[in-house]
Amino acid sequence: MSDAFERLQKILALEERQGFRNKAVIGGLDKFAARWEADALNQAKTPDQRIEVQAIVALLMGYPTLEDPAARARVVNDILARAQRVLRGEPAVAPTLVEAPTAPAAEEVATAPAVESPPPPAEPTPPPPPPAAVEAARAAPSEPPRPAPLPPPAAPPKLGLEAPVTRLPGVGPRYAQLLAKLGIVTIRDLLWHFPRRYEDYSALKLISELTLNEECTVIANVWEVQSRKARNGREIVQAIVGDSTGTIQVTWFNPYMLRQIKQGHTVVLSGKIDVYFGRLVMNNPAWEPLDRQLIHTGRLVPIYPMTQGVSARWLRRLIKQTVDAWAYQIEDYLPRAVRERQRLPSLGEALAQAHFPDTQERLAQARRRLSFEEFFFIQLGMLRQRQKRQQEPTLPLPASPALWETFASALPYALTGAQQRALREIADDLAQTRPMSRLLQGDVGSGKTVVAAGAMWIAINHRAQAVLMAPTEILAEQHYRNLSRLFAQLPHPDGRPVTVALLTGSRSASEKEETRAAIAAGAVDIVIGTHALIQEGVTFARLGLAIIDEQHRFGVAQRAALREKGYNPHLLVMSATPIPRTLALTLYGDLDCSVLDEMPPGRQPIRTRWLRPVERERAYDFLRRRVHEGRQGFIICPLVEESETSDAKAAVAEHQRLQEEVFPELKLGLLHGRMKGEEKDAVMQAFARGEIDILVATSVVEVGIDVPNATVMLIEGAERFGLAQLHQFRGRVGRGEHPSYCILLSDADAGPSVERLAAMEETQDGFVLAQKDLELRGPGDFIGTRQSGLPPLTMARLSDVPTLEAARAEAELVFAADPDLAAPEHRLLRKQVVRFWHGRGDLS
Ligand code: ADP
Ligand code: MG
Repeated sequence: MSDAFERLQKILALEERQGFRNKAVIGGLDKFAARWEADALNQAKTPDQRIEVQAIVALLMGYPTLEDPAARARVVNDILARAQRVLRGEPAVAPTLVEAPTAPAAEEVATAPAVESPPPPAEPTPPPPPPAAVEAARAAPSEPPRPAPLPPPAAPPKLGLEAPVTRLPGVGPRYAQLLAKLGIVTIRDLLWHFPRRYEDYSALKLISELTLNEECTVIANVWEVQSRKARNGREIVQAIVGDSTGTIQVTWFNPYMLRQIKQGHTVVLSGKIDVYFGRLVMNNPAWEPLDRQLIHTGRLVPIYPMTQGVSARWLRRLIKQTVDAWAYQIEDYLPRAVRERQRLPSLGEALAQAHFPDTQERLAQARRRLSFEEFFFIQLGMLRQRQKRQQEPTLPLPASPALWETFASALPYALTGAQQRALREIADDLAQTRPMSRLLQGDVGSGKTVVAAGAMWIAINHRAQAVLMAPTEILAEQHYRNLSRLFAQLPHPDGRPVTVALLTGSRSASEKEETRAAIAAGAVDIVIGTHALIQEGVTFARLGLAIIDEQHRFGVAQRAALREKGYNPHLLVMSATPIPRTLALTLYGDLDCSVLDEMPPGRQPIRTRWLRPVERERAYDFLRRRVHEGRQGFIICPLVEESETSDAKAAVAEHQRLQEEVFPELKLGLLHGRMKGEEKDAVMQAFARGEIDILVATSVVEVGIDVPNATVMLIEGAERFGLAQLHQFRGRVGRGEHPSYCILLSDADAGPSVERLAAMEETQDGFVLAQKDLELRGPGDFIGTRQSGLPPLTMARLSDVPTLEAARAEAELVFAADPDLAAPEHRLLRKQVVRFWHGRGDLS
């Protein structure tokens, strides 16, 4: 191996002694390069060494075109450094910095320290005046991709991570606005703006080795460049570039390239190999000069989420400079012990590699570290929340068997085994002075409401109040009706009837005022409501139990807010979202869990069919026949994405069409989100009483609605709804003794919507669907992460169970030893956890 390199070193030493006159070998260094290359490649043992050889050859080839001896000296030094690395067997690094051999383009002035070494403590450099090109780019930010030049990075230590991006050189108000669209406001945001994916341009090839359609990188000299008019009249730039094995034609459909690429440059080109008139060519390859750190080519190139007006190159370079300057400056907040046990890279390494990975392995490590910390923060927050809650005692609510029997005898059916088990678990919790924090999980229709009612009954018998919060008015009203009916048969321990009150946003101000007064005076035993409960200054006389229905529609913060209504009441949250245990632990890490894994008896499977819109008449006929048999049905209008108002409008039109043209002989009802509270209530009641045959509705009926006589759910435009929503819609039927049906109308023929609809046809099991949803699109609505109130996860994927579990275990260890994170080695960690949870939940 060493022969070729030693020869090279000798020649370069001679070249240096002779004053860089390109006379060290006969014919010049470029000719030498051509001869040397084959030898060196022959001896190169690793891909890294091959890369170095090719980089060296390219530098040698460009050597004669340099006129300035100083520039030649720098190239020689660079080559020598590379040769040294090969001889020492070190991995290749991205080409280090030497000044461009020809006059550098404005953009190329930017220099940045190599990724491997922390940047030196930077002295404050006053940002140079913005070059004209920056101004131009600012004036017309949506012009064709034009690399906007960036001055050198600013001195990092003076600026905190929370400094606005406008403090970075080259980022004026205009760019700041564009970056804000990407959610980037501070330097921290920029560092945590991770690539969507990476283009793998790490395969370095000789021109003679290129094959059609391959994604690769070549290092080549520019022999000639010209611009010409293409047949469509657009100006294009064409270049012939070559290495020691051949040449290839390169075309850019961007006239600005003429200013960038100059004859004699050595460039790195990355892209796909195409064919044109039988010859291999490259069209629009990514490019950059060889003689500085590679950002856009020749490596795993990050592809960032973008917005109009920002060019990919500009953003990549900005992030590169920021990463180089800051990543290694941020003190690592993960405790060393955790990092070592989990073999996690340092924060600096993780940030650097997540943006500009050297290898797939280092990228995977970086991602693992950054995911780990997010899970870790979540878990620490959850543990703390739980502890805080449990430290304050609450009213114990023990229950006797006699109490149970009274409750059970008031029900028109026997509780299922699962319901009894859940109620026992709840009763055990309620008997403690430590407040209950329990999640009741059960698929749609499994009968969670009655379990909640059982818990309320216990509270009432202690003369405590209970509150139930539901996500929609329709659902709150339904609960109000059903629970009023149930508790009419269950007298209060004082012998008077149980009082149930409803509090929703759309009640009149005076009604609300009256209800609030009654609640505060303790004249109301059970309060049912929507968000209004949190928002409208409700205070309770003696709140013993707070229940949240359809928990996945609420967040951690709302949970906390409701809890604060009383003096730390027992808390029961209910959710139809059947999620894997590990996910439950993340999302509801502060809750214990009861599961209803058994449906009430006599339920029939819901048959689900996906029909094409041309089969709509068949679907209508089917629905009509069910109505003639005495059943009822729903028709869900397609989602109009703009707003609830446009959804409502569409629903009104659809209702009219269906009533007049399709089902003139039937009674159709209409329900949408823009209707007033009483109107909705009246329609729902009429539907529940069977006075409406078919309810035409928007997604407002998604959750909770319970009308057992309804057996057909027809969903228009089914491809527009998520899997969770579809499953919830379907859950509106099959709630009684009659066979039920779900008809999905959709002309989807490709993509994830097809998989969603197929999954719906295949299974009725919410657990399976949740899993499927997770696979299809990561944790989505099914899990309710969007509403969960969890801090947004930038790197972590909830489907990444191994990392999640590792983080949980570590969080428990740290928490057990130092729950307040008060130890000096946890100072940074504490700060970070608080920041992570900031504004979410009641973490302090
Ligand atoms: P979900 O869990 O989706 O909230 P609900 O509480 O609305 O379900 O109950 C669904 C339907 O099942 C209701 O009509 C309810 O009256 C009925 N139900 C609940 N428990 C039983 C049971 N043990 N036996 C028969 N029907 C039941
Ligand atoms: Mg329910």
